[in-house]
Amino acid sequence: MRPAAEAGLTQFEKAAVAYMQPLLKPFSVIVVGGGLAGLSAACALAEAGYQVRLLEKRRYLGGRASSYEHPGTGEVIDNCQHVLLGNCVNLIDLYRRLGVSDAIRWFDRLTFVEPGGRRSILEPSFLPAPFHSMPAFLRAQAFSFSDKLAIGRGMSAFVARVPSDSEENFAQWLSRHGQTRGAIERFWKPVLVSALNEDPDRMSVHYAGQVIRKSLLLSPGAGRMGVPAIPLSELYRSAIDYLESRGGHVDLSSAPESFQWSDETQQWTVATPSQNFTSDAVVLALAFEGLGKLLPSLPRNPEADQLAKNLGCFGHSPITGIHLWFDREITDLEHAILLDATIQWMFHKSRLQPEKRRGEPGSYIELVVSASKSMVEMQRQEIIDLAQRELAEFFPLAAQAKLVKAAVVKEVRATYSIRPRLDLIRPTAVSPWPRAFLAGDWVATGWPATMEGAVRSGYLAAEAVSRAAGKPAHFMKPDLPPTGLMRLLP
Ligand SMILES: Cc1cc2nc3c(=O)[nH]c(=O)nc-3n(C[C@H](O)[C@H](O)[C@H](O)COP(=O)(O)OP(=O)(O)OC[C@H]3O[C@@H](n4cnc5c(N)ncnc54)[C@H](O)[C@@H]3O)c2cc1C
Repeated sequence: MRPAAEAGLTQFEKAAVAYMQPLLKPFSVIVVGGGLAGLSAACALAEAGYQVRLLEKRRYLGGRASSYEHPGTGEVIDNCQHVLLGNCVNLIDLYRRLGVSDAIRWFDRLTFVEPGGRRSILEPSFLPAPFHSMPAFLRAQAFSFSDKLAIGRGMSAFVARVPSDSEENFAQWLSRHGQTRGAIERFWKPVLVSALNEDPDRMSVHYAGQVIRKSLLLSPGAGRMGVPAIPLSELYRSAIDYLESRGGHVDLSSAPESFQWSDETQQWTVATPSQNFTSDAVVLALAFEGLGKLLPSLPRNPEADQLAKNLGCFGHSPITGIHLWFDREITDLEHAILLDATIQWMFHKSRLQPEKRRGEPGSYIELVVSASKSMVEMQRQEIIDLAQRELAEFFPLAAQAKLVKAAVVKEVRATYSIRPRLDLIRPTAVSPWPRAFLAGDWVATGWPATMEGAVRSGYLAAEAVSRAAGKPAHFMKPDLPPTGLMRLLP
């Protein structure tokens, strides 16, 4: 970045400097927001030779996927367990860039546990896609014969294609496709509420179909589940070295107060409380509400007013994480889907993060409730009591174990709600301002509110920057190819 002022130059000289700038210096970019969208944009651009400065409001990177020392327990906890799937090709690419791919543990099998403890396992077999999980599915005792028929019928609707977005919500789709109560409560909800963080009656059919097709039907590799074996902020801390070793700068605890575009110099001046920076382009990589808060500090124009209106149409959906430390192990499972309960997932963190937790006595469990609207108003102790009660129904040892400490993390603004027709107002990377680009999981990527969606948005914004710089580059990775019989479909 160069000093904001170019005092003493004539108009002609300033124009000449502006003209020569791209030839003299690398194109400079300020990325605002150090979540996955901002990190992926910044890393892709830095690697491609752009001069990058990343401004992040908090003291750490990772945004909504981060860890911190919990004040009540003194433990480093993730704001919530984050999982990825094999089809998250761009997120996996970001991990490769950052050199942290080895910190992801991959699992092919999902265990569904019923109250009482009976387990059903879904895992791929030798059969070709889309039938690879069929033998395990037919064996699964969690689903009755009529549930299995209904699920099979429902899944077959997504084999050939993902339905286009429409006014219909997924609850209506389930009823139109004759799904049984068991199929809905024990299959569709556990899979989709956690993947999309929304209840079926508010969920887009298009994205529900996309999750099923792209993760469960396309190939065995697409559906395998990745779980970080280290706290989330450790995964993303490596981005600082990555950027700095490529000439970039990372300013933590730094939030812009104003943005000014100069037609004359064709540059942005971004003012933070301590310093002004200039750059050839900016990437605004914020959650939708974060961009909403910044709008008054950006130039006003009719497109910006429309963007503000559209931002007002997004809504939030909460996720609650319940962290429990017991004096002993309560299960041998590393993770499980819990059926017919408020708690949806159990992650056995002391087993999933063995290096981090080695030598610690007892066990550490995180329970996750997606679309946890019912928990928003509940008291901390009520939630812990409910969690302990339900956990004992699945794992009898939990009833005997002593709870040593607990933390409840309610992320009330965890993700935007992926309601039908939301895609009509999701913007592309192109913003209402010159050489300013939008990123964030809510931007139009064709993906829902996920880490993969955020990284895709970051790569798309980086591609838009490269076009503005006159050196078009491609950062997005191709989707996983279909395997088996799925290759025969368009
Ligand atoms: C509880 C929870 C569980 C989740 N589980 C999963 C999961 O299992 N799998 C999955 O794929 N996804 C999951 N997600 C979703 C995933 O975390 C998000 O989709 C993704 O992290 C969003 O990244 P982002 O960069 O778009 O936004 P953010 O992570 O929100 O990043 C925006 C960044 O901008 C910063 N910022 C805001 N304002 C300013 C400002 N004025 N100046 C500078 N910086 C600013 C913020 O501090 C933040 O770091 C979960 C989310 C939550 C909250």
